[in-house]
Parts: sequence; structure tokens; C-alpha cells
Amino acid sequence: MTAPATEKKLHTLDPEDQQQWQEMRQLGHRMLDDMFTWMETIRERKVWQPIPAEVRNRLKSPLPEEAEGIEKAYEDFTRDVLPYPLGNPHPHFWGWVKGNGTPGGVLAEMVRATMNANVFGGDQSPHLVEEQVIAWLRQMLQLPATGSGILGSGGSTANLMGLTVARNAVAGLNPGRTGLLKIGKQMTVYCSAQTHSSIDKSMDMIGIGVEGLRHIPVTDKFEIDLDVLRKTIADDRAKGMLPICIIANAGTVNTGASDDINAIADICEREGIWLHIDGAFGALAAISPKLRGQVAGLERADSIAFDLHKWMYMQYGIGCTLFKSAEKHRAGFNQDATYLSHNTRGMATGGVWFSELGFELSRGFRGLKAWMSLKEHGAAKYRRLIEQNVEQAQYLAELVRKAPELELLAPVPLNLVCFRYVAKGLDEQKLNTLNQNILFDLQEQGIAAPTSTVLNGKFAIRVAHTNYRTTYEDFDRLVREVVRLGKELSGK
Ligand SMILES: *Cc1c(COP(=O)(O)O)cnc(C)c1O
Repeated sequence: MTAPATEKKLHTLDPEDQQQWQEMRQLGHRMLDDMFTWMETIRERKVWQPIPAEVRNRLKSPLPEEAEGIEKAYEDFTRDVLPYPLGNPHPHFWGWVKGNGTPGGVLAEMVRATMNANVFGGDQSPHLVEEQVIAWLRQMLQLPATGSGILGSGGSTANLMGLTVARNAVAGLNPGRTGLLKIGKQMTVYCSAQTHSSIDKSMDMIGIGVEGLRHIPVTDKFEIDLDVLRKTIADDRAKGMLPICIIANAGTVNTGASDDINAIADICEREGIWLHIDGAFGALAAISPKLRGQVAGLERADSIAFDLHKWMYMQYGIGCTLFKSAEKHRAGFNQDATYLSHNTRGMATGGVWFSELGFELSRGFRGLKAWMSLKEHGAAKYRRLIEQNVEQAQYLAELVRKAPELELLAPVPLNLVCFRYVAKGLDEQKLNTLNQNILFDLQEQGIAAPTSTVLNGKFAIRVAHTNYRTTYEDFDRLVREVVRLGKELSGK
């Protein structure tokens, strides 16, 4: 068969001539200017605003069959998308646990999109970059240089990867290969009642099931009760169950409490079970000499899951799982496919491939923004920012303690502050409703964006502080506004 006549025009997604490339370039420059202006002026806008009905409607319009062009797509973006995010880059955003992203990260994401590398394996520089990022993260957390790790989309996948390897390493037979039935016992995993819900999802996915997950009660500091933990493991063993893993929290999502990792590591060693740490944001406390004590024992973990898009402020989505044993990590994921075999020469070479260390085959080059950010700012800057966030959280806690109308609802070991407005003569239920309404008004008036949790039945306004744009005055204002709204809404 001969090639079709050359005059037949081929379809392509590229600009089609020099003129069109030039237009693309000009639009790109304009977009970059717009985006940096948007970031530079973010404080002038509200942290959050509701999405108008006409915008919602436009975001339900049918599939465009014919080209509208990139300029029109960008216009639609600036009109309907850019103004209505949750607002995590904003200095007044303290909801859930979310990072800001950085200006340098915008550029890193642009160049990574240009390379569009797939970092599954093979002999390519992006693979070496991700290995270097993992080595640097070990250094930052002061972990031994040996072991292995993998970058993933966030804390949830980081936990899932850690727990998958834990299950396969401890179960005796490799249930990843044999299936769960051959194990013949109920496997069990232990964590505190304050543990993040991503762990429940992981239990579901690795087949242990949420019923195999023991939520151990916590002390008044919201740390796992070690006596109950020991007793529960003993009881389960007596019933013929197979304890696999204890998950220690380095910074719980509700209050920032960290479990006693050293004590848990002792139990794990004695019991021959895996120590996994969910340190989504709290593991980063280890990079500061002032805060490291809170997560003492971190280096004893078999696996540690943490995010770079929370307390490393990087663009979504990037998380990491580090493993003490490279062999166990490698053995944790079963894979042998001829089309993915390693060769002795050419592209399909290199050491262990990332596709062999996790469940993703195709992997975006998410390590590039970490690599560029660490070069741009240096590790010392991250240490100072994390310490700054903790100092500011302590400052907010102090403002709450000093305000007679406010009540602090949990200790503040790290960067989370849970508090509420208290009005005399209101019962618990009315206080809960009142504080819920204060929170709604804060958000809807675009004043500030904390979120909430419930601690011992009390509705808490919850400030999770992983924001490098917040000033001390921002917290003065938050407290002022909560008190104002509290007075207004309670009619005092
Ligand atoms: C955020 C968080 C997670 C989940 O991480 P994602 O990046 O949102 O998937 C897990 N554990 C804790 C303690 C968290 O704060």
C-alpha cells in the first residue's frame, strides 16, 4: 500500500503554521501574565464566593462538536472557572488541610507539561529526578539513606501503597499473589479513633475490610490509648486473628495530635507487625529541630505516607510513601508482563522501575515541581515556613484563650486550632448550631475559610494552618470576626 497523496491534509493538534505558533506563543505570554497577576493580587479578592446560577448552567453546556479555539476556551476559563474555587491559595484559607501552591510551581507545571514524560521506568532523566527527590525527602526527614520510596498523587494513595506492602510483607503468604482466602485468617490493622478516613478506604481496597480495622480510643490529648491498643492486639491474637499493622498518626487531621510513635514501634517489634505512619502533613514536623520531638521515632517506621501538596505547599497532587526495606517494597506489587520487561541496552533499561513499586503504570512527572521547588527555595526555607505556621497557630490559640467569648476545644501541639464561640445560657446543641452558623457566615461572606470538625460532641471551628500567605493580623481579624458574628447570631 502506498502512502496517500501528499496533498491530503493530515489532522494534527499542533498549530498549523508559523503564524499559528506565534499566536499560541502570544496567548501563552498573556496567560502567564494573567496568572501571576491573579496570584499577586489574591488578597484583594474574597477567599470564597458562591457560584452564580448562570455560571453553573454554562458549566453544563453540551460537548462542543466543532473547534472553539484555545482563546475562547481561555475566556470561558477566566469567566466561569477561575473566580470560583474553594480558595486554598488565599491567605484566609484554613479549611481541611490544603496547601497554597507557589508561583515557581506554576512554571514547573508548565515545563513538566511540555516534556509530558511518563515516569513509569526506562532510562530517562525524569526517573533520576524522582529518585533524587525521594532521596532529598529522606534527608529532610532525617531518615536513613537506605530504603526506597515512590511519589504518588497524595496522602490517600500514599497510605494505600504503604498498607498494600504491609499486608503482603506480614501475611506470610503474599496475598497479593495468592488472594486473601489462602491466608485463612482475619487480618487486623490498628489505629486510633482519630485516624483519617483514607485508611478505612485502604482497608476496603486491600481486602482486609473496615471490620478488620480496630479504631482504638484516644486520650484527652487525642493520642492513641496504648493500653487499649496492647490489649486489643492480644485479644485478637487469642481469637486466632492475624495482626498485620499498626498505623501511627503523625499529626491527626482533627487536632494535629501525634501518637507515641516510639511506644508503638516497640509494640510492633515485639509483635512482629508492620509500623505504618500516616504523616500526611505532620511528618513534615520532622524537618524542624524545634518540632521533631513531636514525631520522635519516625525513623523506626516500616512505611511513612505524607503529602507535598499540604505542608510543602506544592501544586496538587503530590504525595510520597517511604519504605524502610527496598526489598519488601519491591515485593509488595506483583507484576510481570513481557511488554514491560527490562532490556540490557537501549531505552528499556535502568534499575527498578517506579511501575514496579506501585499500582500505577503511567505516571505523570509530578516529581519535577518538587525538584524545582527544593532547588528554588532550599530546604531551610521549608523548615522556617513550617515553624512559622506552628508559631502562628500558637498565636491564634493564645488569642482564643484570651477571648472570654471563645473556647479552645483541643490542645494545639502543631498547626491545627479547634475552637468555638460560647454564649452564656446556651446548651450544647444550641452552641453547636450557633457555631455552625458562624462558620457558614465566615465562608459565605468571604471573610475566611476555616472548616469544621466535631470533638467530644462539640462542633468546632477548625483552622488547619498550612498557609504561607497568612499574617498574624489575619488571625487577629479572624478572631474579631468570629466574636462579632457570635454576638450578632446569638443576639447578645
Ligand atoms: C489529608 C490527609 C490524608 C489524605 O491525603 P490526600 O492527599 O488528601 O489524599 C490522610 N491523612 C491525613 C492525616 C490527612 O490530613
